[in-house]
Amino acid sequence: MIQPLDEALTPGLYIVATPIGNLSDLSPRAASVLARADLIAVEDSRVTAKLLQRIGTKRPMTPYHDHNADKVRPGLIERMGSQAIALVSDAGTPLISDPGFKLVRDARAAGHVVTTIPGPCAAIAALTLAGLPTDRFFFLGFLPAKEKAKADAIAEVAAVRATLIFYESGPRLAATLAQLAVGLGDREAAVAREISKTFEQCVTGTLSSLAERYEEAPPKGEIVVIVGPPGEAAAPQAADIDAALIEAMTRLPAAKAAGEVAKATGLPRRDLYTRAMTLKDEA
Ligand code: SAM
Repeated sequence: MIQPLDEALTPGLYIVATPIGNLSDLSPRAASVLARADLIAVEDSRVTAKLLQRIGTKRPMTPYHDHNADKVRPGLIERMGSQAIALVSDAGTPLISDPGFKLVRDARAAGHVVTTIPGPCAAIAALTLAGLPTDRFFFLGFLPAKEKAKADAIAEVAAVRATLIFYESGPRLAATLAQLAVGLGDREAAVAREISKTFEQCVTGTLSSLAERYEEAPPKGEIVVIVGPPGEAAAPQAADIDAALIEAMTRLPAAKAAGEVAKATGLPRRDLYTRAMTLKDEA
């Protein structure tokens, strides 16, 4: 549903994408919808207040985030019957590694108008920077923090014939790149950082070379990791496998460590156990 920018908004839900760094990336339509919304559901009112200040408006805001969403959603759905409710996240496109999908689902179920105002999304922006195939891509958001769950999540996508997109934080970046090299093979990859901000950077290389670079100097700022599809990817290097076994044995007995690395790499568990025992003896 497209409405003229100066008319009152039809009641319903408006999903509004906001900048991921450079405030000039807010589209005129997004600004107009925010300025006319009866209420804006926000992750953090301080962040959205700055954006509203930039467009010279003040609107009522209500928090909508992972900790209160279930409680406040029914009230928002009810209000959509008579009011225009906008949903924003702190940065980028709502619902993409951010809250909102249940709000859209319930708004649809209640028969309300649901409109999206498309705009910045870090995953797509990074994909355009990486110089890796864009014909098929698979977005995974943030990998789990726990080692086992992370290795499982990587193993699950090892055979996917697509470019992979992950969100990641600076302190975890080097370890994640090393785990990706082990689980996926040493593929071509890119680390896109601080997109649309002053220090925007996109560094390309193999997963292992990027892991080495960021191990020495953990980066600051917001990060997207892009990994090329399998195909020309080299099998995991012996050194990467050793590193994975050594790391796993800091948490697990050798047999379990071998099992975890076998799952991540597809290599035979028995061979990995033998290697784990050798590494243990050498330690
Ligand atoms: N909904 C947002 C979107 O559309 O991109 C993503 C929200 S998610 C909670 C935040 C993550 O997105 C950050 O931790 C980072 O991985 C990535 N991100 C956000 N802004 C970024 C930027 N300017 N440069 C690189 N990555 C960014």
